[in-house]
Amino acid sequence: MTSAFDNAMKQLTQIAPFLGKEYARGMKFLKTPQRIIKGKVLGYQAFRVQYNNARGPYKGGIRFHPNVSLDEVKALSFWMTVKCAVVGIPYGGAKGGIAVDPSKLSSVELKKLTYTYANFITPYVGPWVDVPAPDVNTDGQIMAWLLEAYEKKVGYQAPATFTGKPTELGGSQGRTEATGYGGVVVLKEYIKNLKLKTKNLTIAVQGFGNVGYWFAKIAQKEGFKVVAVSNSKGGIYNPKGLDIDKLTPDFKSNITNEELLALPVDILVPAALENAITKDNADRVRARVVFEMANGPTTPEADEILAKRKIDVIPDVLTNAGGVTVSYFEWVQNLNGYYWEKEEVLKKEEKIMIKAFNDIYKTTLEKKVTYRKAAFILAIKRIIDAMILRGRV
Ligand code: NAD
Repeated sequence: MTSAFDNAMKQLTQIAPFLGKEYARGMKFLKTPQRIIKGKVLGYQAFRVQYNNARGPYKGGIRFHPNVSLDEVKALSFWMTVKCAVVGIPYGGAKGGIAVDPSKLSSVELKKLTYTYANFITPYVGPWVDVPAPDVNTDGQIMAWLLEAYEKKVGYQAPATFTGKPTELGGSQGRTEATGYGGVVVLKEYIKNLKLKTKNLTIAVQGFGNVGYWFAKIAQKEGFKVVAVSNSKGGIYNPKGLDIDKLTPDFKSNITNEELLALPVDILVPAALENAITKDNADRVRARVVFEMANGPTTPEADEILAKRKIDVIPDVLTNAGGVTVSYFEWVQNLNGYYWEKEEVLKKEEKIMIKAFNDIYKTTLEKKVTYRKAAFILAIKRIIDAMILRGRV
């Protein structure tokens, strides 16, 4: 079993040669999370890992999935720390999760589990401490239940404690599609730099949840041809293009997930879980670019194989950062009690994503490194600079 945290630490270590000696202590510090909260919630293993808060309050999603483990949550919380620094928003990084299959629970059981998890994390979260959000198998409803339980416990309204809430409870316009939208903004910048035309470039998307669905839908609107999507049961492929709006979540599959990864497309978009592209299948990838929308979908070994094969990998810490960017806007709106229109939210998100992409692109040229290394060089430097200023290292 590949350890996501080992992979994350390999990514960190790889950029050590690009940072000066004064960053060595910070690099060492970044190999361990600042705080691990773990225990049982209604009999299920539950976690919150607060990786680093040098740049601002901890921030990161909550995942409900049977494979959730401490190793995975640690990796995801580290990537959140990097991601917030990549887009330059004032947060650290965290992640949480419960090892549970929510599809096996009734709505009443899910609500009870969520309330109990909220009580479990209440002493450790808050607008200026740690701000959770949705991730795999969690959504606005789960955030609403978390908020209710949290506010009951502390005795006052505190909507800025959670992001990804329904708009009725202080959620931001544009948050639901923010991750997919931000991804398409970055993809368009990347394509522009290659001097290619968007029209009819083909895309295959693995994972058709919040991120995969919105990414596919918006990409199609922008002129890309989405030829395949998949969920955990399998994928659907049509070389002439799919109509995303007409696809229902229970579509009939005609390919496996492994086959989807090997399709002859221009852009391959893993948008499901970690470790989708590994040393065992990286040779079979036929796309010219792997555009990571999931967190950690490519292992370091696969990264090397793809780099040798001259296949660009545009990294998760950039491509899916639109979600946390609009979460940040939601938090800002909650703290001010003043709400923006969707156009304003998406415009501000676009600006941040374009700047982040161009900073990274420049670094790839200057340092002759991959997009992932460039993103890590910029982000890790920002995080350690904050730690140095605070006198932590
Ligand atoms: P989701 O629960 O809405 O959707 C997950 C999708 O992946 C579902 O379609 C599911 O069927 C599919 N899936 C699960 N296992 C699979 C497998 N083995 N093969 C193929 N498909 C599989 O989750 P989401 O919020 O869309 O998150 C997807 C990824 O994006 C995760 O890595 C998550 O951490 C990351 N992410 C999410 C957000 C966000 O705003 N929701 C932001 C940044 C990153």
